[in-house]
Amino acid sequence: RRVTSRKGSMADVPSDLLDQINRLEELFTVPTDKLKAITDHFVSELTKGLTEEGGSIPMNPTWCMGFPDGYETGTFLALDMGGTNLRVCEITLTEEKGEFDIIQSKYKMPEELKTGTADELWGYVADCLQQFIEYHHGDEELDQLPLGFTFSYPATQDYIDHGVLQRWTKGFDIDGVEGQDVVPPFEAALAERGVPIKLTALINDTTGTLIASAYTDTEMKIGCIFGTGCNAAYMENCGSIPKLAHMKLDPDHPMAINCEWGAFDNEHQVLPRTPYDIIIDKESPRPGQQAFEKMLAGLYLGEIFRLVLLDLHQNPDCKIFEGQDVGLLDKPYSLDASFLSAIEEDPFENLSETHDLFQNKLGIKATKPELELSHRLAVLIGTRAARLSACGVAAICKKKGWDKAHVGADGSVFNKYPHFKVRGAQALKEILGWPAGKGKGRGDPVEILPAEDGSGVGAALIAALTLKRVQEGNV
Ligand code: BGC
Ligand code: MG
Repeated sequence: RRVTSRKGSMADVPSDLLDQINRLEELFTVPTDKLKAITDHFVSELTKGLTEEGGSIPMNPTWCMGFPDGYETGTFLALDMGGTNLRVCEITLTEEKGEFDIIQSKYKMPEELKTGTADELWGYVADCLQQFIEYHHGDEELDQLPLGFTFSYPATQDYIDHGVLQRWTKGFDIDGVEGQDVVPPFEAALAERGVPIKLTALINDTTGTLIASAYTDTEMKIGCIFGTGCNAAYMENCGSIPKLAHMKLDPDHPMAINCEWGAFDNEHQVLPRTPYDIIIDKESPRPGQQAFEKMLAGLYLGEIFRLVLLDLHQNPDCKIFEGQDVGLLDKPYSLDASFLSAIEEDPFENLSETHDLFQNKLGIKATKPELELSHRLAVLIGTRAARLSACGVAAICKKKGWDKAHVGADGSVFNKYPHFKVRGAQALKEILGWPAGKGKGRGDPVEILPAEDGSGVGAALIAALTLKRVQEGNV
């Protein structure tokens, strides 16, 4: 397979680089058969995760039991502790069906916090909530405001207002939090500051996305995040969750399951890992975890790209960035997904934007063939991410026997990475075997659509549903 035939304009690329491009094509391309094999294994792992003995995918019961009907009312706070921002919202669900008002503030999530101490983390989060209340409510006498806290990490929940962190993901590495219930230290930090807030529901971003999306579109069956991390949630009937059988829940009652599918194939049975994926895992704070996520989530896309280029530079059989100072390229996580996005958006005919990026961000003066290789590499990494993501969506649909579904998706990769949606739709089509459609995936039986605000409105809705359940005396 010659790349030259596909990209006529690559004629000037020296043969050592062409060999490498061909090698990378092989490494990063996931053909239809492989997508199908991954999806089939995924289906069995989803099922296994729901059993008592479990598997590598946690399939966490969330105690979010059912969808809103649009008639929820009340005022709620929502807190989203993300990787880059911390967002606080106040949401009023009004008497009118499906209507709400929202005010919000964003705070930066300082990079040091992610590897600092638990006290620093909860102190900072509580400070932001306090600031929000002071700014929006001054010295009003406030009753305790109910809060939906979007905590986008795997947590074991026996109740909806508690959660034991299973492990940090997405590069977080704070001692003394894993294996602990995160709610008591969070509430203690609030109490210390006299902030009048009561945590009502601890939720995952995917569950919030599912609920918020279903609020406006009743065809929504799956909530997905394709962002810094990657994951999905969907509804299962309690009767189909063997690991909850001992609780004797109504078998027909729905419960959202937070799959935590980032952990898919931690035992390396089916994913086509490259040497670069193996390095990412080894160098990460949690080796052996999140095998699937590390191949496709936003946090890792730039890093995969960087590792490939560095490897080619160091490879004696291939001359790339010869005589250039690669000090900046040598720095882990120096490139993020937006670097790849910009390269993919740069027209292949000229790549002047890419040239400037290499120069300004990395201090590297790249030649035309090197720019062409980089562009091709970005396409390969971005395409692989979209195609692997589709396996997870297809697997949930197959497991549930849904041949039609809307999927609500959010996250920086879904919203901003070029061609991610089209590539994902194409892969779904290959896996689920639809006839070639009109393109872009619009109107496909399983359609991935932009979600409503899960960690804002979704968190508020789940808090409202929880209070209602408590008032009605149900679990
Ligand atoms: C976390 C999930 C989260 C996903 C998207 C993953 O790293 O484990 O809980 O839903 O990122 O934010
Ligand atoms: Mg987020």
